[in-house]
Amino acid sequence: MKSYSLIAPGKINLYLEIIGDRADGFHELVMILQTIELADVIDLQSNDTQDITLHCNHPQVPVDATNLAYRAAQLMCKTFPAAYANYGGVDIKITKNLPVAAGLAGGSVDAAAVLVGMDLMWNLGLTQPELQDLAGKLGSDIPFCISGGTAIATGRGEKLDLITNLDNLWVVLAKYQSISVSTPWAYQTYRQNYRNSYVSAREDVISRGDRIRSGELMNAIIKQEGHKIGELLYNDLEKVVLPEYPKVSQLRQLFADLGVLGTMMSGSGPTVFALCSNEEQATDVMSKVQHTINDSDLELWVTKLASSGIQVA
Ligand code: ATP
Repeated sequence: MKSYSLIAPGKINLYLEIIGDRADGFHELVMILQTIELADVIDLQSNDTQDITLHCNHPQVPVDATNLAYRAAQLMCKTFPAAYANYGGVDIKITKNLPVAAGLAGGSVDAAAVLVGMDLMWNLGLTQPELQDLAGKLGSDIPFCISGGTAIATGRGEKLDLITNLDNLWVVLAKYQSISVSTPWAYQTYRQNYRNSYVSAREDVISRGDRIRSGELMNAIIKQEGHKIGELLYNDLEKVVLPEYPKVSQLRQLFADLGVLGTMMSGSGPTVFALCSNEEQATDVMSKVQHTINDSDLELWVTKLASSGIQVA
C-alpha cells in the first residue's frame, strides 16, 4: 500500500527517578511509562521523488529536519537504501492533538509512528525489537512509544520491561498553553541541584531499578489498585520545575484538593495529570478546574489510560 494513517498516542510518567549520570551524557533513569488515548494522527504517503516532506497543523512544531518525525523518515531511508530507491520519498502529515513541549512525548510518538508506518509501506517486515532498536537511535522515549501500554523503562529510558496493562483508569491532563518546559533545561537544572544524590556504582544503579520492580507501586499496578497507584506517583523533575512555574504547582494543588486518586507532573512537564477512577470523575474534575481557574490559557483534556502504542488507523 502506498499510504498509511497511524494513531500515535502520548504517554504519562507514573514514576520518574533520576539515579545518576551516564558516560553518554544522558541520565540513568528508572521510570514507569503509561500510554494514554490522546493521540496525534500521522498520515504517510509515498511520493514519486526522493524527497521527504512534512506538514503539521500546529504552528509551534518545526517542519524541517529538526522534526523528530522527519528524522525518523531520514533514518529509514539511510538504513534501507534499496527500499528507499524502490518506493521513493515520503510525505508526512502530522495532525497534532497532543500539546507540544508538554512532557507527553509528542515528538517521540510522531517519530515512532513514522518508523512503524514506513516499515509497513515498504513491506520490510521488521519485528518490534528491530523497530525499537532503530527508535533508540532517535530518542530515549521512542522505543516505548512503539509498544506502548505500561512499562518499566531503565537506562536512559530505552530499556523496557512491559508490565500488566493498566487501562482501566482515566486522567485529566492540564497545561497552560503559554508555558512550555525544555526537557534539556529540566535535566540540567536537576543535575546542578541534586548531583550529590547521584549513585554511580553499577550495583547501586541496578538495585535502584530492582527497588521499583519489586516495590509497592509495581504491586499496585499489577493489582490495578487505583488509590494506591495514585498515592505512589513520583517524579524527581517536579523538584526543579514546580518552583520555577508556580502556576503549574497551583494546578497540581487544585487537583489534589478535588480528591483525585493522585496527581503528578508528567515527564519534564509542564503538563499535570490527575488520575481518576472513571470517566465520570474525570469529567467532573475537569469542569471544576475550568470553573475555578477560569483562564483561557489553560487547556484541559480527559483521556483514558491505554494498552497499546502505535496503531494503524
Ligand atoms: P518528552 O515528553 O519526550 O520530553 P515533550 O512532550 O516534552 O516530549 P515534544 O512535544 O516532543 O515535548 O516537543 C519538544 C520540542 O521538540 C518542541 O518544542 C519542538 O520544537 C520539537 N519537535 C520536534 N519534532 C516534533 C514533533 N513531531 N512534535 C512536536 N514537537 C516536535
